[in-house]
Amino acid sequence: MPLLRAKGVVLRNRPLGEADRLVTCFTLEHGKLSGVAKGAGKLRSRFGSSLQPLSLIRLMLFGKETRSLYRIDHTDILTSFQTLRDDWEKLRPALYAVDLVDALLAEADPQPRVFALLEQLLTSLSDGRTVHIDVWLRAFEARLLTLVGYRPLLDSCAICHRPAADPGALSPRVGGYVCPTCEPRVSDAHRLSPATWRLLARLTTLPWEAATRLSLSTEQRQDLQRMLHALLNEHVRKEVKSYRFLGEPADIREGM
Ligand SMILES: [Zn+2]
Repeated sequence: MPLLRAKGVVLRNRPLGEADRLVTCFTLEHGKLSGVAKGAGKLRSRFGSSLQPLSLIRLMLFGKETRSLYRIDHTDILTSFQTLRDDWEKLRPALYAVDLVDALLAEADPQPRVFALLEQLLTSLSDGRTVHIDVWLRAFEARLLTLVGYRPLLDSCAICHRPAADPGALSPRVGGYVCPTCEPRVSDAHRLSPATWRLLARLTTLPWEAATRLSLSTEQRQDLQRMLHALLNEHVRKEVKSYRFLGEPADIREGM
């Protein structure tokens, strides 16, 4: 039984029988992996509380090569991110971010730059002001698309490859700009203002610190949220259910 050591963010935690938990982590070293945490479902279990979603932990895993499930044996909390759980305004974008990473990435596919991006977002949400949440989320989504290889093609038409020019539309299905000639061939073309267009292009490569300094109009916020959601939706392996918590009134948490 090989032993793995990893640093990871807990993405999901489900009951397994009466006392155990099935936990999915996104680890820096080994990518996304799932394991059984024996006894972690017991009341007041320290081990169990370290495995709450969003926690940044060090963990030790045992596993067999022929089975996809590991046994999570030991954990140390590096950052609990408890501030996120205590504030619904911060919790919902944080849960959305871990769900999105979970839905985009395959198991056992290490993505250290995605790991750094997620850690950066959770840290900013935890320490920063809620006024920046929208722009952080859009920067996170756009950078995530780039890092997992789905950066939208914005410089030239995704169908005929002519250089992009105004006016143009964005088609999430073809993954980028479509020129006026090609636009009738796609059913999901969205018109964006030139300013929103430039913002989208910037967000895909913008350093994290610079994102905080961006200021977006209400229309740009809505357009970017809609477009990035549509672009990501083309690549997720399952529905990102927590997306509906974004922009929803606070009383929706009763249903979680
Ligand atoms: Zn074209």
